[in-house]
Amino acid sequence: MEFDLNLIIRENVKAMSPYSSARDEYVSDGSKMVFLDANENPYENGVNRYPDPQQRSLKEVIATQKGIEASKILLGNGSDEVLDLLFRAFCQPKEDNIISLPPTYGMYTVLSNLNEIEERKVELLPNFQPNVEKILDSVSPNTKMLFICSPNNPTGNIISFDSITKLLTSFNGLVIIDEAYIDFSEQESWISQLQKFPNLVITQTLSKAYGLAGIRLGLCFASAEIIAVLNKIKPPYNVNELSQQKALTRILDVDAIQKEIKLVLEQREVLENSLKALSYVSKIYASEANFILAKVDNATQRYNQLLAKGIVIRNRTTQALCKNTLRFTVGTLEENKILIEALRDI
Ligand SMILES: *Cc1c(COP(=O)(O)O)cnc(C)c1O
Repeated sequence: MEFDLNLIIRENVKAMSPYSSARDEYVSDGSKMVFLDANENPYENGVNRYPDPQQRSLKEVIATQKGIEASKILLGNGSDEVLDLLFRAFCQPKEDNIISLPPTYGMYTVLSNLNEIEERKVELLPNFQPNVEKILDSVSPNTKMLFICSPNNPTGNIISFDSITKLLTSFNGLVIIDEAYIDFSEQESWISQLQKFPNLVITQTLSKAYGLAGIRLGLCFASAEIIAVLNKIKPPYNVNELSQQKALTRILDVDAIQKEIKLVLEQREVLENSLKALSYVSKIYASEANFILAKVDNATQRYNQLLAKGIVIRNRTTQALCKNTLRFTVGTLEENKILIEALRDI
């Protein structure tokens, strides 16, 4: 059977027409116009007008940088909104299910619960790669989406190209690859494969490598058909004007972003080497992201000891395959020094 988008869109979504916002109706062609259509305050202060609901200027730059058409891009209020839109467009509450691969990002569970969608959890193998056979065995006619986080949070590894390819070709629902950490990795983004796989959806974010967690800007890349469905149901002004402006200036500053990524990767190596020297650290997992997962003697004890020194990390001990692990975000050189000193003290 071939992937058929029409078979997975919810009926109510198919029947919907999008909210038609005043600002959608007319785009100025540059000539002077008088806009009296949206009941805005007419006095200029920089943000008295509604933002562009399609974020055209921002998408144009992203399209060029990523080498993809703007019609294959959707922007959201963080990638968390993008993920929520996917649930609401394709999963019928109380009927459909999704598959996630723990240990992984917690939002897939939150969104499944919120939208009343069964979450079928298929644990990663001990090497943190997917159990492809078991995943395919877990698929039912109501399985709409499969979430793959690569590089994975909290383990830090890339999910292998071959596993993902096999899943894309064998599963007739959407395969969503969450690339929140892709900019820290050597691995190429799956965006280059969009043409080949009609069921591929990629999400990225400006919250990590781009340094803009505070503005909430998530990116989604998929076929123009999938993007059109998401556009139909998104809140019309989901990305505010200040976020659009800030994102635009930042993504054009490619050198600054690259420089910061390089610094983070250098500090990741420093932290890795320091962790190796500690007697209570038994394993450090190779990371392609801006954090390191490490196994210790007693994660909860070590977590509390660091907390007492004013250092907050993440205790992952309750996650599948992650007993007694801690996740360390790579900070600045100064922050790293403070962390490493504390790790030696405890
Ligand atoms: C941090 C993170 C995100 C980012 O979400 P935003 O809503 O864009 O800030 C997405 N996915 C994973 C796996 C993450 O770790």
